[in-house]
Amino acid sequence: MSHDPNCIFCRIAAGEIPAQKVHEDDELIAFKDIRPAAPVHLLIIPREHIATLADAEPRHQALLGRMALLAPQLAREHGADNGLRTVINTGPDGGQEVYHLHMHVMGGPRPWKQG
Ligand code: 5GP
Ligand code: ZN
Repeated sequence: MSHDPNCIFCRIAAGEIPAQKVHEDDELIAFKDIRPAAPVHLLIIPREHIATLADAEPRHQALLGRMALLAPQLAREHGADNGLRTVINTGPDGGQEVYHLHMHVMGGPRPWKQG
């Protein structure tokens, strides 16, 4: 499985950088966003280093499906039971800052910060 030693999310996945992890399994990790834009703001990442959604391949189909299914489950577990927002920023024009595929999971009572 590809691991980029210079990638902050690979380092979080490897336990080299601390994060408030809320889920771990053989393929996925989820942790709290360090700058939450909503009362609940989690990031779901694959353990494998995939830089962006545009770099995902057909073999990642089930992995992407698992990310989508995990989002409402984690939102509920964190008390966001009135809806949620999922976002995957992709590339420069998508506003992506960290180049390791991640799904934002945001929820909780509004108003939220701009994000
Ligand atoms: P992007 O703009 O790439 O979609 O979002 C990257 C997200 O990662 C941002 O919301 C940012 O707050 C979060 N983030 C960046 N570095 C870290 C970190 O070291 N730890 C955690 N927990 N979140 C981070
Ligand atoms: Zn990475």
